[in-house]
Amino acid sequence: MKIRDRVHLIEGPNKGKYPYSNSVLIGNSCLIDTGAGDVLRNLKVDWVINSHWHEDHIALNKIGKRVAAHAFDAEAIESYEEFRERYGMGDIVKLFINFEFGNVDRTFEDGEEFEFEGVRVEVLHTPGHSAGHCCFIIDEKVIFLGDIDLTSFGPWYGCRDCNVRDFVKSIERIKDVVQERNISVAIPSHGDAVFGKEKIVRKLEDYLKVIYERDKKIRELISSGEDPVGRGIIYRKIPEPRDVFLNFEKIMVKKHLTTFQSESSHP
Ligand SMILES: [Zn+2]
Repeated sequence: MKIRDRVHLIEGPNKGKYPYSNSVLIGNSCLIDTGAGDVLRNLKVDWVINSHWHEDHIALNKIGKRVAAHAFDAEAIESYEEFRERYGMGDIVKLFINFEFGNVDRTFEDGEEFEFEGVRVEVLHTPGHSAGHCCFIIDEKVIFLGDIDLTSFGPWYGCRDCNVRDFVKSIERIKDVVQERNISVAIPSHGDAVFGKEKIVRKLEDYLKVIYERDKKIRELISSGEDPVGRGIIYRKIPEPRDVFLNFEKIMVKKHLTTFQSESSHP
């Protein structure tokens, strides 16, 4: 799908639903994320840029001559040991891996800019979902949101390098950027592109609210002496393999309890 001149959205299967994700092709030389599946297999690009280290974003990194990622996520893209460490569940994470780990040739930081065939790409470091998660402003008016994905499920922070407070700050930052710079298209890694500044802002607000709604429910259950894990607060129904997803939910609930002291710490 053409978004602007030399900027194309390449949707993963099922609108980029996990284990796939959406990619953006800039000219013929740069691809942001490589989880869009078979449609990418015959592509060759000079650069792959990763939004973060998760498997559904790096699967076909080998189609790039070179790979770039944020300095905080590079190691988990390169090495199984670091990948496993961040999931924190031992070798069961092999379930998620149907790709080969590969080198990151260049790391970047917040505020860096690249240019591909006259199209500018600006890095916004937006941690929370992962330590080095980044969004990208493309050609001034388009933002690639990565896994600040605006889904009704809400933000996901089930790995060791996730941080729910950083996630809140990142969503707020993106909201400001969209307003200040008149961004008119937002492309999440999963789901449909969103058109129109007001709509993007509204969706970001709804997405942020999910964190506070979860927090409220978690505290209600705890104050009545109940275990909030497995009660539909994060996953409405725990997917299979159940142990793996229950563990994610446990990690996410724990991050609430160690991050927000009480409801009064919400804005
Ligand atoms: Zn992710």
